Amino acid sequence: MTSLADLRSAFLAFFADRDHAVVPSSPLVPRNDPTLLFTNAGMVQFKNVFTGAEKRPYTKATSVQKCVRAGGKHNDLDNVGYTARHHTFFEMLGNFSFGDYFKEQAITFAWDFVTKTIDLPKDKLFVTVYPKDEEARGLWKKISGLSDDRIIGHESNLWAMGPVGPCGYCSEIFIDQGPSLWGGPPGSPEEDGDRFLEFWNLVFMQFEQVDENTRVELPRPSIDTGMGLERIAAILQGVTNNYDTDLFRHLIAASVEFSGARGNTDEIRASHRVIADHLRAASFLIAEGVLPSNEGRGYVLRRIMRRAMRHAHLIGSKDPLMYRLVPALVAEMGEAYPELPRGQALIVETLKLEESRFRETLARGLKLLDEATTTLGKGDTLDGETAFKLYDTYGFPLDLTQDALKARHIGVDVTGFTDAMNRQRAEARKAWAGSGEAATDTQWFALQDEFGKTEFLGYDTEEAEGTVL
Ligand code: ATP
Ligand code: MG
Ligand code: MG
Ligand code: MG
Repeated sequence: MTSLADLRSAFLAFFADRDHAVVPSSPLVPRNDPTLLFTNAGMVQFKNVFTGAEKRPYTKATSVQKCVRAGGKHNDLDNVGYTARHHTFFEMLGNFSFGDYFKEQAITFAWDFVTKTIDLPKDKLFVTVYPKDEEARGLWKKISGLSDDRIIGHESNLWAMGPVGPCGYCSEIFIDQGPSLWGGPPGSPEEDGDRFLEFWNLVFMQFEQVDENTRVELPRPSIDTGMGLERIAAILQGVTNNYDTDLFRHLIAASVEFSGARGNTDEIRASHRVIADHLRAASFLIAEGVLPSNEGRGYVLRRIMRRAMRHAHLIGSKDPLMYRLVPALVAEMGEAYPELPRGQALIVETLKLEESRFRETLARGLKLLDEATTTLGKGDTLDGETAFKLYDTYGFPLDLTQDALKARHIGVDVTGFTDAMNRQRAEARKAWAGSGEAATDTQWFALQDEFGKTEFLGYDTEEAEGTVL
């Protein structure tokens, strides 16, 4: 049971057998939630069920949720290409209790799935609990039989839906991937290494934050869990990097083939990983009708696409690359996500157009960046004026400039950048406030059906000015 498809169905079947309703993934663009750029966890579609504002015909649910963490509170954009475990787009397996079972049952389910269904070796597992959560510590001990030193108190195990609303402690499950990798167990100074991998988070919604100073016990506490599909697939496939799983190997093979960049340096490998990752995020967003633009969700998409395009340029790709990788993605993920084959033509067209438009300014901008930084070295900072010029004239999102200088350990004067922007853009549009009305996949495809597949207005209608998120 190591393929993504097998894992998805094993997880859903495990919880369906335990009376959970199997609920489809909600869109990446959250419906009716202007506070959130993209769905970033399985619980997002159930927010109102947790608070009691919405009733569903079930009190237990399970899902495989499409997630994007590339902006807002959870932003893993800067991690991609640098860590073995982060993606901008990923799938989250989850089980949920809405005032039904609580800690003991949630821990039992998780432990049974991990040690019996997918057979992970118990002697390699660690869990974390909030230091004050003696209840969870006791339950883990009773249910898993893990020794005390493998149930680690960690201050970060606190979770809240927002400044007000449900909140509580959480527990995370880690696996020790062996001493060949750098890193220490959670709570140690080396916990950020790759050796100890967090793969499942169990959230115990126990309290309600009523206002800044008041926290009350929820009458019927709830459970929200999330496990990264790509991480668990890597563990089961015996690899210690998500990008070495079969899905990513196939995407990276396509990137190698179409770019012709066969070199095996760390830099080239990282570029292929970024390209493969960003291909997924961009394609899934476009499939839902998000189009590159200069604000809000569209600007996050543009940043993802342009970052990938810089990496394609870095590895020497002469022609637009991203759009040629779409068939490989559809072959890998099209069965589980029909919106991909359905949106394929749009995805290809959007990637191709953005890449064609950006190529020339990308090359010229990189030249300017080189010239501006020839005398700079480790620990130095690029001035804000130049970063703004790159943004304004060459279409370089700030994070692209930062990413381009990261390997040389050169920073960017962000305050100077913002000042330059404010000066020149006194009339700039206000930062994205969120309408909550972006096209959902259903709306998008309805429009597409109405106007035909080739009608494509994205670039002509976009605003000229930028907004930095
Ligand atoms: P990390 O500490 O590794 O960044 P997290 O604590 O931010 O992970 P959670 O918010 O607890 O992650 O999300 C639940 C699970 O989703 C994680 O345990 C992990 O398996 C998975 N996950 C989270 N972020 C990512 C990501 N960027 N790419 C792939 N999987 C992820
Ligand atoms: Mg994280
Ligand atoms: Mg974590
Ligand atoms: Mg976590």
